Amino acid sequence: MAADPSPTSSLRPGTIAVTAGRPDREPDAPLNTPITMAATYVAGGEVEYGRYGNPTWTALEDALGALEGGRCLTFASGLAAVATVLDLVGKEGRVVVPKHAYTGTIMQLADLESRGRLTAEMVDITDTDAVVKACDGAALVWLESPTNPALEIADIPTITAAAHEAGAYVVVDNTFATPLLQRPLEDDVDLVVHSATKYLAGHSDVQMGAIVTRDDELWTVLKGRRDLVGAIPGPFEAWLTLRGLRTLHLRVERSQANAQELVRRLGEHPALSEVRYPGFGGIVSIVLAQGEMAADLLSRKTRVWVHATSLGGVESSLERRRRWKAEAATIPDGLVRLSVGIEDVEDLWEDLRAALDGCVG
Ligand SMILES: *Cc1c(COP(=O)(O)O)cnc(C)c1O
Repeated sequence: MAADPSPTSSLRPGTIAVTAGRPDREPDAPLNTPITMAATYVAGGEVEYGRYGNPTWTALEDALGALEGGRCLTFASGLAAVATVLDLVGKEGRVVVPKHAYTGTIMQLADLESRGRLTAEMVDITDTDAVVKACDGAALVWLESPTNPALEIADIPTITAAAHEAGAYVVVDNTFATPLLQRPLEDDVDLVVHSATKYLAGHSDVQMGAIVTRDDELWTVLKGRRDLVGAIPGPFEAWLTLRGLRTLHLRVERSQANAQELVRRLGEHPALSEVRYPGFGGIVSIVLAQGEMAADLLSRKTRVWVHATSLGGVESSLERRRRWKAEAATIPDGLVRLSVGIEDVEDLWEDLRAALDGCVG
């Protein structure tokens, strides 16, 4: 039922994004997998019930699995996928996690910790020696690279080797990089997690999550959890995400090119004290020299850029992250996260520069 990545593995990622997860080529077969609305199936087959499987999920799982190089399971949201992975941790197990991981992930860990389910050890993910030390005795090492919104980078191969030495599983939240810019399973990482809500679906109209692994036993355990808990995607959402995935390479290329050009120009702007960019991807974090009020002013002043949370859509958006109470106190008050979309970069620049000009001292 799940994808065997081998038939497509000789193809390049852009071709996989377009070709994987299609119906067999037979006369009059549709080119696209239809949306199957089904809560139950005629008895005697492999699926039986809507919570256990759906052909539209399978098409998306085949495509995303082929892109990451593993077997995929889709979920109702990114956080449903995160919760399913954290559920692998045994009672009182220890989880190593970047202190600047996505706030929802941090909040889930804090909730589980407060109920005595596990302990979470926050680390500076750029301090590889400290992370390697923290792996000792851990059950799970959670990586997010780049982190959201600090844009720090983890040394994934070194940390993964140390975690495996210590007998811990390693998971990478690959939402920011996408499988086009980073394939953690090739570095021996056990699990990749996605908020498909972001780049994979790409149009700010779907909430979905995914887990990808090469480990058949882990896949079976996670599938069992999804069957039982029911954090399943809707067939229409799966179809929309697969439709979005068909242009993932074009969108990521354009967002990244726009982001790189904006970073070049932003470096000079007197309203900014810092521009953070890891060198790849479409997310840029800028820090307003005048702090919180200037950042809020910027968010209100743009006309092309939309003031909204979330990221990875075709449209450019921005927000001051500390407007959320749950955001880490170590993220600067005046940090604005830019999700660079696929518009014409000159319009993005003119709009942003005009707004920034109004935020100088
Ligand atoms: C948004 C996000 C999530 C959560 O995904 P949802 O689809 O909103 O549940 C997890 N990780 C990262 C890095 C994210 O940006």
